[in-house]
Amino acid sequence: MSSPLIVSEIIERNNELAKSWTPWPLFSEIAAFGMASPSILITTCADPRLNPVDFLGLKPGELVVTVRNVNGHIAPNLNDILALDVLLGFKEILIVHHTDCGATHFKEDQVKGILSERAPGNKEVAFMQFGAIGDVPLSVRDDIAILKASPLVRKELLENVHGYVLDIKTGKLSPV
Ligand SMILES: [Zn+2]
Repeated sequence: MSSPLIVSEIIERNNELAKSWTPWPLFSEIAAFGMASPSILITTCADPRLNPVDFLGLKPGELVVTVRNVNGHIAPNLNDILALDVLLGFKEILIVHHTDCGATHFKEDQVKGILSERAPGNKEVAFMQFGAIGDVPLSVRDDIAILKASPLVRKELLENVHGYVLDIKTGKLSPV
């Protein structure tokens, strides 16, 4: 088993990489660089096994916007989606949740119990949500429903919402 990464080690790698870095375009330079403006927003899990560049076969210069959190839930990402859509005007949203998600391995009450011991008497914990799920396809369907119920998301964008489950063993995306 390899030893865990430490921050100082990966910062050192960055310093090496930066010596031969190819500059990225400013937003104002994207077209001049021959790139298309990002048209797809992906919301997916923060799980370190799930890198959209890998499971979607994205090539250098293909710009997609990815927002990630526990399970890839829409609700905690909604502010980000709205702000970025104002800036970039997405054409499609892709929601990807996945098998063996960490969110299926803990329970809301478990997290709340630990936090309540850490901060006795704290009033916020009872109302917080931590993203635990029981059923992966259902969580995709729930998130599509949350998105479609928001009056703040552009109607044109809501017509192009896609929900998928990624099987981490096969790497295949299945529509929900
Ligand atoms: Zn996950």
